Amino acid sequence: MKAHQPRRRFGQNFLVSPGVIRKIVAAIAPRPGDVVVEIGPGLGALTAPLLLRLDHLFVIEIDRDLITHLRRHFPSERLTIFDGDALRFDFGLLEGDGPLKIVGNLPYNISSPLLFHLTRFADRIAEMHFMLQKEVVDRMVAAPGSGAYGRLSVMLQYRFQLERLFIVPPGAFDPAPKVDSAVVRMIPRKLGAGETARDEALFSRLVTAAFSQRRKMLRNTLKEFGGESLLAAQGIAPTARAEELPVEAYVKLSNALAAG
Ligand code: SAM
Repeated sequence: MKAHQPRRRFGQNFLVSPGVIRKIVAAIAPRPGDVVVEIGPGLGALTAPLLLRLDHLFVIEIDRDLITHLRRHFPSERLTIFDGDALRFDFGLLEGDGPLKIVGNLPYNISSPLLFHLTRFADRIAEMHFMLQKEVVDRMVAAPGSGAYGRLSVMLQYRFQLERLFIVPPGAFDPAPKVDSAVVRMIPRKLGAGETARDEALFSRLVTAAFSQRRKMLRNTLKEFGGESLLAAQGIAPTARAEELPVEAYVKLSNALAAG
């Protein structure tokens, strides 16, 4: 195949640093029987070293030219290619194969919607390792009270234990992105009774409303949910702002609403 022309619309920044590739594979620590799904295999920078350690690998790729390249380079008995959009992929299809390890150097232009899509399959996931823009990883792992703490932090920390593993500079990619990247590990949390949002759609609506105008007080942004009286009943100051509440407080508020 002639040299692949990277496509911006598919967020194509290919990994070219052997040291970084080794570090990512070491963090994933694949073992032969693992059920691993790679999102966006591209030209196979991670696919090849993963396949050295695994019996089999599933990949999801949207770019037809790259799929042709992957078919030529990897035997179909060892690499199953799902041709399409990871945002629409039903990870439940692979349920019978065991808990999933999902990995990828993700296309940065769709990283938030993809992370939200994946939360729906948390019960079937053993762990995930992703390369993302560092700024996005910082928002994912941010603690309450910090400027980076927002809807993404609350919704992901509710379902996963998150850890930023290491930072990757632009020079590790071709073409080089303008920003630093980071690798994050996400492990689904086992939720106890008090930690589970009884109505997850309501929980999500509440968190979205709270952070819709993050400088405003919650008694205003949560008006449609009962505002001041909802907050007071849960012992939360009506003057509090969205970024001050920990994840558990959002779960508590949404459970109080769900209980009617
Ligand atoms: N894994 C390769 C590497 O590290 O060199 C490529 C990473 S590149 C940042 C992102 C990859 O995701 C590209 O191969 C791109 O075509 C693919 N991609 C982009 N959008 C996608 C989508 N919606 N579903 C599946 N793959 C997608």
